[in-house]
Amino acid sequence: MPAKIIQVGRKKNKLPLLENIKIENIAAEGKALARVNERVLFVPMAVPGDIVDVQISKKKNSFMEGYVKTYKELSSMRIKPKCKHFGTCGGCKWQMLPYKNQLEFKQQQVIDALQRIAKVELPEICPIIGSENDYYYRNKLEYTFSNKRWFTEEEMNEPDVENTAGVGFHIPKMFDKILDITECHLQAEPTNAIRNWLRTYALNNKLSFYNVRMHEGFLRNLIIRNTSTGELMVIMIFGKNEHDQIQNLLHQMQANFPQITSLLYVINQKKNDTINDLEVLHFAGKNHIMEKMEELNFKIGPKSFYQTNSAQAYQLYSVAREFAALTGKEIVYDLYSGTGTIANFVAHKAKKVIGVEFIPEAIEDAKENALLNELGNTIFIAGDTKDVLNHDFFDTNGNPDVIILDPPRAGLHTDVVKMLIWAAPQKIVYVSCNPATQARDIALLNENYKLIKVQPVDMFPQTHHVENVVLLEKREN
Ligand code: SAH
Repeated sequence: MPAKIIQVGRKKNKLPLLENIKIENIAAEGKALARVNERVLFVPMAVPGDIVDVQISKKKNSFMEGYVKTYKELSSMRIKPKCKHFGTCGGCKWQMLPYKNQLEFKQQQVIDALQRIAKVELPEICPIIGSENDYYYRNKLEYTFSNKRWFTEEEMNEPDVENTAGVGFHIPKMFDKILDITECHLQAEPTNAIRNWLRTYALNNKLSFYNVRMHEGFLRNLIIRNTSTGELMVIMIFGKNEHDQIQNLLHQMQANFPQITSLLYVINQKKNDTINDLEVLHFAGKNHIMEKMEELNFKIGPKSFYQTNSAQAYQLYSVAREFAALTGKEIVYDLYSGTGTIANFVAHKAKKVIGVEFIPEAIEDAKENALLNELGNTIFIAGDTKDVLNHDFFDTNGNPDVIILDPPRAGLHTDVVKMLIWAAPQKIVYVSCNPATQARDIALLNENYKLIKVQPVDMFPQTHHVENVVLLEKREN
């Protein structure tokens, strides 16, 4: 079928509806890609092989964006999504793709970024390390209670839906819309059992669900964290300090879920949901959970950051350590160190590791973990990497042989790039959750650093996200 362009409406500048567009590929950020008259078209929620009608929402000289109006033919690549909430919940947008194809598209995203943005000489790119579990891989989920849950299309057509309260996840980009979740396949049980039990308990006991517009209501959030060692932390967040109701609920929860090793709660009467600036109160069990990686132990408190896919975090760190190829003599910097997991992970193979991270609580966790693991050769410094890194800092802490970087999605600040070049370590190991900004930074470093190895790792099956580790080596001038 040839692609047909239809002008909709009478207004001259109204953007067109394009009919019978064949989706060809997947591009950056997981968007599907098609070509229409030499222009690239980006469309979410489609896969290669689909034939769709697309309403254009943005038209530029070189590209267009739109959304699917009608699916005319579905690609033979598609599979039945596992979850009943697929399509409404924003969580796992790639469930319609077999995991094997997800991995291929992730690998391609890394290659595309390096070719189109970095434009440097490329080594052989290692095949992506997939996750052994393509479901049930998360060690943390956060649910939100709402007195006005999102209605699905079927519910909209029912004459009277009685219960309007729900507990689940935010509808993408809507702060006040919560989809009531009855099953989620991202975290192992008892995550569904606890959340569903709570909903029933709350409805039976007429407890109020939070109203985010009015900022009122009793039940606000629920955080569930687990570890590979079988520990389980539950944090209940209440919008009101109703002592008896809180105690009754937590007692009942404890009786129903004896596997909880740490039962905590928070009273949050602020406008925003974060608990980082609030006191976490103890109800039962320990005030933390313990995760293990090789011979290392990591203490995870209710506010501590830990990579959400523990098994793949181990793969990721192993790649970073292998690329660093330490012998025990090196001074290593772990920049954007979080709670110091990478620093801890490489410390026994280094002379000294210096971690830098701008969240002070994460630095406290990093220090505690280093103590716990009896690592006397690490130090952790709180501050913004771009401000902390200067000539004095390197003079004081020693010239780096290896710098490991794991920045957030925005990648490196140009001041950091300049300081890396000035410090001139033999190796830079760059871990990234955004291949586009990583590729940009590789280009900035290219005059001084040659790209030697590339290893993509999949931390988030069923989503388009991909991590990538590269090794850069100093050019001999
Ligand atoms: N390597 C760690 C954390 C990586 S996440 C791990 O694997 O667990 C990136 C970290 O960078 C976060 O902890 C974030 O707080 C920190 N960060 C973000 N911007 C920063 C900046 N400008 N300076 C220092 N740290 C920063």
